[in-house]
Amino acid sequence: MSEIEERLAELERLGLYRRLRLVSGPQGPRVLLDGKPVLLLCSNNYLGLADHPRVREAAADAAMRWGVGAGASRLVSGTMTIHRRLEERLAAWKGSEACLLFGSGYLANIGTIGALAGRGDTVFSDELNHASIVDGCRLSRAEVIVYRHLDSEHLEWSLRRHGGGDGRQLIVTDSVFSMDGDVAPLVEIVDLAKEHGARVMVDEAHAIGALGPSGRGAVAEAGLEGEVDVVVGTLGKALGSYGAYVCADEEIISYLVNTARPLIFSTALGPPAVAGALAALELLQERPHRVERLRSAARTLRKALATEGFPVEDGEMQIVPLLVGDEHAAMRLCKEALERGVFAQAIRPPTVPAGTSRLRLATMASHTAEELKMAACALGEAVRALGLDPATMGPSVSANRTHVGDEHKTEEPYLPMTAGERRGDAPFDLERESSIARAA
Ligand code: PMP
Repeated sequence: MSEIEERLAELERLGLYRRLRLVSGPQGPRVLLDGKPVLLLCSNNYLGLADHPRVREAAADAAMRWGVGAGASRLVSGTMTIHRRLEERLAAWKGSEACLLFGSGYLANIGTIGALAGRGDTVFSDELNHASIVDGCRLSRAEVIVYRHLDSEHLEWSLRRHGGGDGRQLIVTDSVFSMDGDVAPLVEIVDLAKEHGARVMVDEAHAIGALGPSGRGAVAEAGLEGEVDVVVGTLGKALGSYGAYVCADEEIISYLVNTARPLIFSTALGPPAVAGALAALELLQERPHRVERLRSAARTLRKALATEGFPVEDGEMQIVPLLVGDEHAAMRLCKEALERGVFAQAIRPPTVPAGTSRLRLATMASHTAEELKMAACALGEAVRALGLDPATMGPSVSANRTHVGDEHKTEEPYLPMTAGERRGDAPFDLERESSIARAA
C-alpha cells in the first residue's frame, strides 16, 4: 500500500473520506444528483440567482463582448472596464468609499488578512471562523489569538492581554457563521475595536442577500455601515456567480492593490462571472422581495422541522444545522435522506469541529413551501429509520464541541471577567489573573 493509499484508507476508517458528487443542470431547487432527481437543500445559491435567466444572459453577453478570460492579473492587463463597473456598483450599494474584486472569497480572505497583519501584529479570530480566515491567519505570520465563538467577553479579555503593543491589531469574524447560521455580536466587536484601537474585518459571505435592508448584510442590519474597516463579501453565494469583493476606504484598498498576494499573482475574474454578478446585484436592488422570500423559506423549513421533533428554533436564517455528532452517523443520515429525495450534504471535520458532524441545510428563495415541508418530513423519517432521536439534533453550535481544529485553537487559559471588570471600573489585574490561571 502506498503512503497515499494508507492515508485514504485512514480517512475512510474515520468516516472522513470525501468524494465528489455530480449534479446535472443548474443549482435550482431540484437537481439530478448522480443521475437521481432530488431536492437540493445544501446550495448557497440562496436567492436563486445563479440560474436566473437575466443573470445567465448577462454572462453570455459578456462572453461575446469581452471574451471569457481576463488574460492576466489585475495589475498586469487584467483590470477591465467591467471589473471597475462592478466595483463602483458594489461600493455604492455597500456605502463604502472603495471596493476591490478578488478571484474568490478564499482568496479575498487570505489576501486581506495577509496584507493587514504580519509578523509582530496580532489577529483576534472567532474560533468558528471560516477556513479561509483560518488560513489567512496562518499565512500572515501574525500572532493569532482565537477567542471563543461569539464570546465578546473573551475577545475583550484577549484584547486586554495581547493588545496595546507596538504591533497592529486586527479582529476578524464571519458575520453569519457558515455551518451554524448564527450571527456575530458585531456592535460589541466594533465597540471593543474602537476602545482598543484595533481594526475590524467582517466576512459577510452568508449574510449578503439574507440580512439587512435589501440584503446588504449583517453589518447593515446592525446599523454599522461605515464603522467596519474591512467588509468582505462573495459573489458565489447569494449573488449567484463566482468571485468576491472587499469594501474599505481608499487607503486600505490601495494598500491591498499593492500588497495582497492573491490579487497580484492570480488572474482576474473572467468577464462572464463579473457580468453575472452585476446582473444579480441589479436584480437584488430592483426586487429586494427575494430576500423576504428567502427569509420566509427559512421560517417554513424551521417550523416544519420543529413539527418533526427537531429542536430547531423559529427564525429567518437560511442555514439550519442538524447536529448528528459522529462522522459515520452523519454520512448514514445523508444517505437515508437522499433515498427519500433530499440532498443535504453531511459536513464533517475539518469543516466543523470533531464530534459535531451534521447535515447543514440551506434554503433558497426558489424553494416552495411544499418542497420544504416535504424535506422536513423526509429528514424526520430518515432520522427515525436510523434509530436516532430528532430531539437530540439541535443547533447547539458549540455546546457539544470537544475541540476546535488543531490549526486554529487557543491554548489560553480564560477567566471570565467579573461584573466590575466588565463595566470597566476595575483595572484588569493581569498578575492576579495569570496566577489563578496557572493554579487552575
Ligand atoms: N467565507 C465564508 C464564511 C465562506 O463560507 C466561504 C465559502 N464557503 C468563503 C469565505 C469562501 O468563498 P469562496 O467560495 O468565494 O471562495
